[in-house]
Amino acid sequence: MFLNEQQFVNPYGACCVKGGAQVLAKKLLQALRLHFAQSNSLLSETFDHQQLRCSQNHIGYKMYHARHLVFCEGWRAASNPFFPEIKFQPAKGELLRIRCSALPPDQIVMGAAVLTPADAESEFDVGAVYEWQAATQEPSPKNHELLLQLLAKTIRVPFEVVAHTAATRPTVYDRQPLAMFHHQYSTLSVINGLGTKGFMWAPFFAEWMSTEILMRLGNSFDN
Ligand SMILES: Cc1cc2nc3c(=O)[nH]c(=O)nc-3n(C[C@H](O)[C@H](O)[C@H](O)COP(=O)(O)OP(=O)(O)OC[C@H]3O[C@@H](n4cnc5c(N)ncnc54)[C@H](O)[C@@H]3O)c2cc1C
Repeated sequence: MFLNEQQFVNPYGACCVKGGAQVLAKKLLQALRLHFAQSNSLLSETFDHQQLRCSQNHIGYKMYHARHLVFCEGWRAASNPFFPEIKFQPAKGELLRIRCSALPPDQIVMGAAVLTPADAESEFDVGAVYEWQAATQEPSPKNHELLLQLLAKTIRVPFEVVAHTAATRPTVYDRQPLAMFHHQYSTLSVINGLGTKGFMWAPFFAEWMSTEILMRLGNSFDN
């Protein structure tokens, strides 16, 4: 058992889940960005909904033409004029990045705090908090303190905080992920509402959506 009492606050014993996996989100997103940039398929700029021209069989945006557009905008879709019916209840989350050489380097630990190995040696992400009525998108001193308290209930070994970050989960009122088409334009769709589980759910919904789009288009995409 890797959770020993010198390292962890572990009064009731612990168990180890075998066969799990971890997505290194930052590395994955960097790799995908590079992949799409290299194939000249990435435009890095803010999307301007006012410039979108849509009809039943065509999408126009600035100089670009397409047969379908899928919006994947996270919580910022709250201001997407094409899908006003999506009711968001965004949940801000915060993480501490700690450096600690006294912990097992490759184990995810779920205690009062959740510790996941980060993509740098001896570093771990510690999370996470949920804030439903957040006034800002910035990390807050209050949640910094809360995370330290949760950490103190989880590990006994010394550590150093190296970063504190915040992000917003795109949660919707009924917590159900959304993959749906526009009620008027069949050329528009959205994947959203992935909330706390985007990395788990996105592949399923993206595959479902792409299959559905291809089917509706009669499988006539070039690639
Ligand atoms: C602290 C924390 C911990 C989490 N832990 C986990 C976990 O352990 N497992 C898990 O599965 N999920 C986890 N999540 C949830 C996961 O991060 C989200 O579900 C996921 O990121 C949602 O993906 P998305 O693509 O819908 O939205 P986002 O990740 O928000 O991506 C939307 C993108 O669209 C861009 N965008 C929006 N509007 C525009 C525009 N007009 N023009 C150009 N770009 C635009 C944004 O900049 C952003 O890059 C966590 C989230 C947080 C905050």
